[in-house]
Amino acid sequence: MTETLADLPHTARHDLGLREEATYRMVWYAYTLLIRALEAGTLAVPHNHPWVDRSTGELLPCPRDCPHQPIPPAEFFGRLLDASVPDSVPLTEALAIDSTDYETWARRRSWARKPDVDPDHLPVKDHKPVNHAQSANEASWPRTGHDGRAQNSLDPDARDGYRSGTNGTRGSVFCGYDLHLAVNARSLGGPETPFIITGMHLSPAGSHKGRAGVTLIDQVRARRGKGQVVTEVIGDRGYSYCKPETWAWPLRARNVEPIIDLHHNQRGQHPGPIPATVVIDGGLFSDALPHPLRDLPGFPIGMPAADKAKLHGRYDQRAAYAFTPHSRPDKDGYQRFKGPAVAGKVRCPNYPRSLRGSHTRPTTACTPGTECACGKTLTLAPDVTAWTKQRNLWGTTAWAADYGRRAAVESGNAEIKTHRLHMDRGFTRVMGTLKNSVLLAFSLAALNVILLRDWHAKRRRLDPWSHLVNEPDEPNVTKHTRAKRRTTSLATLTSGDPPG
Ligand SMILES: [Zn+2]
Repeated sequence: MTETLADLPHTARHDLGLREEATYRMVWYAYTLLIRALEAGTLAVPHNHPWVDRSTGELLPCPRDCPHQPIPPAEFFGRLLDASVPDSVPLTEALAIDSTDYETWARRRSWARKPDVDPDHLPVKDHKPVNHAQSANEASWPRTGHDGRAQNSLDPDARDGYRSGTNGTRGSVFCGYDLHLAVNARSLGGPETPFIITGMHLSPAGSHKGRAGVTLIDQVRARRGKGQVVTEVIGDRGYSYCKPETWAWPLRARNVEPIIDLHHNQRGQHPGPIPATVVIDGGLFSDALPHPLRDLPGFPIGMPAADKAKLHGRYDQRAAYAFTPHSRPDKDGYQRFKGPAVAGKVRCPNYPRSLRGSHTRPTTACTPGTECACGKTLTLAPDVTAWTKQRNLWGTTAWAADYGRRAAVESGNAEIKTHRLHMDRGFTRVMGTLKNSVLLAFSLAALNVILLRDWHAKRRRLDPWSHLVNEPDEPNVTKHTRAKRRTTSLATLTSGDPPG
């Protein structure tokens, strides 16, 4: 950080009020003041008076007539991220969100036998057992934290969470935080967009993923202007496995469409809401659905692309028998659906009109005169299949394209952690949610600048930031050294708080 300040041009140093060489102490002091102001709720803009007494460092009370607007921490993080994205970079209506584990710097003092995760958490299986040689708890540990959960380190907010295994490694328990990130996703069928982080939310590990996700979405929505509304959110099963009350419903109440993947426990056949219907994998079907299309397999990791495409084709065949929306949901969430013969997807002998349709459509095996649901319309209450429903039927080619946009975001997040920021334990060496969040927000804003530069360079386009600050447009030469320097300087800033 001090290096970055030293690198600033003379005018920028003047604007910051830097008359001398910035020292580590100065940066640390500024950081401490910022934390105090955020904690006290006294950070505000625009101010017509200084909010810190320069001689004593005391926070000054705001005079009554001061037209200030207090900035809560979440808004501060959001504004910081916003500031890293030039106006010329378009934001879409689609948000992809993801949560990643972030270990506390504090030393672990005790171990839990079981992962201490929210009951709404995905089923935890096959986690690495605690190493008994290392697992002796220190005297008087674990403590009971301010939230009633076990506290296993001096970090007052760090909790035990479960990190699922990847690429064949087993899942494990870790002590720290869940870092939830919101990323601008490509519009369905739209052009590629740069990978930009537009929101962040840090919560103690093992806490409720759905609630944290909704908090994050609200943070992003609050800062979007008119015409920049968020209407769809792509999130993995960590979010969508949560009860509908804490994920699907809050999203729909915000006019946001959840785009989800189903867990094994969310799949299967259930009776439908009216006779001769059946609910399968979150979709409502006419009973005319042939049996071979009912119990289709899932998509295991590493499935060859050709096999995957073929299997999506089977789900597409199944989709012909589904009920489809007949109207938009009303205010209370009730929505009209029409049967597959009404929608012109199948030919059913009970609905002569459908027989006039093209012969390329499947003809159902319904017995004429025996009641079937192919030609019915019905109104579905919002709680019917609330947990599993989405605009495209799970498993279909259309669904794969919709949900598949998450893949870019997922790989982007991996890049953040491993290639760009090395966001591992010790990346920030402070304790508590707020202190960590502030440092992470600055790092992520800097990362946006670097990623944008990279994105534009790859496409041989002018990087808006380099252009604005009149930097030579040679991203391939500068980007890596800059990325590296910023990481090291951020780490230097954080090393002032001794580990617990
Ligand atoms: Zn029928």
